[in-house]
Amino acid sequence: MKLNPIWKQHEKDIVIHNDKMNMIESCLDRHAIKTPDKLALSFEFENKSTKTFTYKQLQEETNKFANLLNKLKIKPSSRVFLFLPKIPEMYIATLGTIKHGSIALPLFEAFQEQGLELRLHRGDADVLITNSELAKRIPKNIKKKVPSLKHILIIDEGKYKKDILKQSKYFQAIQKKREDTAVMIFTSSTAGTPVAGVEISHQALIQQHYTAKLVLDLKPNDNYFCTAHPGWVTGTVYGILAPLSIGCSIYILEAHFDAKNWIKFINKNKISVIYTAPTALRMLKPEIKKQDLNGIRNICSVGEALTKAVFDFYKTLGIEINDTYWQTETGAMVIATWKGLKKKYGSMGKAIPGITVKIIDDTISLKPDFPALMTNIYKHEKMHKDYFKNNWFRTNDAATIDKEGYLFFIGRKDDIIKTSGERVSPIEIESILMKHKSVKESAVIGIADEIRGAILKAFIVLNKNFKESEELKQKLSLFVKENYAGHAYPKTIQFVESIPKTNSGKIIRMKLRELEKK
Ligand code: AMP
Repeated sequence: MKLNPIWKQHEKDIVIHNDKMNMIESCLDRHAIKTPDKLALSFEFENKSTKTFTYKQLQEETNKFANLLNKLKIKPSSRVFLFLPKIPEMYIATLGTIKHGSIALPLFEAFQEQGLELRLHRGDADVLITNSELAKRIPKNIKKKVPSLKHILIIDEGKYKKDILKQSKYFQAIQKKREDTAVMIFTSSTAGTPVAGVEISHQALIQQHYTAKLVLDLKPNDNYFCTAHPGWVTGTVYGILAPLSIGCSIYILEAHFDAKNWIKFINKNKISVIYTAPTALRMLKPEIKKQDLNGIRNICSVGEALTKAVFDFYKTLGIEINDTYWQTETGAMVIATWKGLKKKYGSMGKAIPGITVKIIDDTISLKPDFPALMTNIYKHEKMHKDYFKNNWFRTNDAATIDKEGYLFFIGRKDDIIKTSGERVSPIEIESILMKHKSVKESAVIGIADEIRGAILKAFIVLNKNFKESEELKQKLSLFVKENYAGHAYPKTIQFVESIPKTNSGKIIRMKLRELEKK
């Protein structure tokens, strides 16, 4: 489908040459020429040491990585997986991969062996870049299991350090078609396959840049803090690409959440704009004071419903949080509140100008004529097609809309669970639980949690020779945590006699959710 003509006017903010482009020219190269000494990235590591990159330095490091891919004979359009914490190489390799004309696939660092292997396999990985700590999770015979995998680069080993140093700091961005894939984000689903790579194009930057200006209100002189890991779409799009395209300074905190540490980080770095999730805003509540927010111009929220309680609390501290709604599949924000738009209590805002929204069968549906919309789901064309009905893209989220176009979120229409704003498919977790010798059947749902929005609960039918015990519950939780993913394990387990199913054998999770509410 053709783009809504509105987007034409935003194209001028992005470097496009006769319909060809590479988004990294807009994110890096133009700023490296105009403002070479401006701070681009500032890291604070777990051990409290720091490291900074100006736009020029970041461009040079990125170019070296793109040259290294060439040296390794990696052809443009290859798939480069990035399995790293929030450290410079995660950002440099993401940018370098896209500049090389290849596809960056950042992965959340909490994935364990089976979660990692599944994604490398599904995504036909050509290259995996990681560090020696996370490399322990790579299955031993990985090259057999993932035959496409040509190189594993370990960034803290001597060979990589030597090889990257030798590369030239010059590299001309490879020009791509606007619709070519720049980034692939592995996300969870309950339709089609539970784990699939959503493809986001180079031209998505038009909408990502525009929404960073309109909603995040980012300006070149801002000190910006996006709390998401690049393995989640927010962390890639609004943690790396969009803010760099604006030309502001991004501050990155490697350490996991700690309220006191975050507040110190915000004050020390004079952060002016924050993009985070309601869970984090709730976890900050006991520590944060009005004076901590003095330097902050804008806080935006994403990933789960911004509850009235969170909104009200920050309002008493003098900040009206802007809610933003989007999903991996939309590639950029599609609904939000922003400066100058009247807010309505309890509403997540209105459609971004250029987005046409309609509620069809209670579902938020979008006209598929905006530039950031996913272009495909890797190797799952049918699953991709199923998102579209009668020329409307269906989000799978339920909401209502009022006469003025304000949207009020209701909830997911499928079984996807959002825990701490992170997306989990219950099917993924059930299939891991089934690998444990004690488990005959399992069903996973999200149950309400005051802080995290939802936590995972598993209902388990045990095999004959196993007895119910607290110890076994803990073992099963740990089994998922250690084998699959550190962020997506069931925190609560209940043993049951049977699991409600349809005639065709499909789990009726709705029934389990209803039982929980009673
Ligand atoms: P992800 O693809 O991981 O970014 O998750 C997208 C999903 O998160 C959406 O489909 C919604 O279910 C949920 N979500 C995102 N933003 C909001 C919001 N502002 N309010 C409520 N739910 C949201």
